[in-house]
Amino acid sequence: MSQIFGPVPSRRLGFSLGVDVVPLKTCTYNCIYCQLERTTKKTLRRAEYVTAEVILEELRHVLSLGQQIDYITFSGSGEPTLNAKIGEMIRKIKEMTCIPVAVLTNGSLLYEREVREALSAADLVIPSLDAVSDEAFQRVNRPHGRLKIGTILKGLRIFREIFSGQLWLEIMFVKGINDASEEIERMRGVIGELRPEKIQLNTVIRPPAEVFAQPLTEEELSGIREQLGGNAEIIASFKRKDQSAYKADVEEAVLTLLRRRPVTLSDISEALGVHRNEVVKYLEVLEHDGKIASKIFGGKRYYQSA
Ligand code: SF4
Repeated sequence: MSQIFGPVPSRRLGFSLGVDVVPLKTCTYNCIYCQLERTTKKTLRRAEYVTAEVILEELRHVLSLGQQIDYITFSGSGEPTLNAKIGEMIRKIKEMTCIPVAVLTNGSLLYEREVREALSAADLVIPSLDAVSDEAFQRVNRPHGRLKIGTILKGLRIFREIFSGQLWLEIMFVKGINDASEEIERMRGVIGELRPEKIQLNTVIRPPAEVFAQPLTEEELSGIREQLGGNAEIIASFKRKDQSAYKADVEEAVLTLLRRRPVTLSDISEALGVHRNEVVKYLEVLEHDGKIASKIFGGKRYYQSA
């Protein structure tokens, strides 16, 4: 499976070329809403899980195809800052092309100077921050045992001071988990300190790792936006197909596969040679249209024809 995927049309970043630098599912968190299944390797150990050479060589090839790419985006099968060479990769990409580089991160390692320095070479960093109290943090993100929300907030504050690029904050709300009014009030205070260029509010639209991770309604999310004020915007798409440059052949291939037997996201991705992050977009639309259904069995989500 290639480490580079797309370009995938995305609401926020236009045509985004994904760069996946950790194996599934390597993360510092095990978020209840994660669309990539439960975390199998919860770690704080930074390592060269995928080498910089592999990434840069693949990228060089993809860029030579001359496709429209608005952002080169580090995201993928877990937390990208766990790759110890992410800084070197970003710097080399910046030498290779003038396409801006974005990093989607959970921000949990920004308390490390090395991680801050690595990400400071990017043009856009989008950290998620789903909780500011320890209780909500534990409930929604189920972090590695050594992570403390206070340390993470400190890391974000220092990064804000040294980072000259764009900082967009993403907050994922889960019903009854991190949407209490007092939590949002405290978030408002933290946001005031971080001064992100954008605040993007999201909820559980794609099939989550846990069935109890339920979405907020559009009205509830709008209420939170009012409470947060400032430049908060809702990015959860309550309409379908509006963000996908939908390829009918991929949709048909997914449906054909699901007619045979129930399969997981990873099964589909491997069978079709399409990255998981692309596959989830198709599954989201098909499930909403009632063409497929999913259920969790033995800790894994299986998809099948409806
Ligand atoms: S949502 Fe992101 S931070 Fe949370 S477990 Fe999944 S990959 Fe990790």
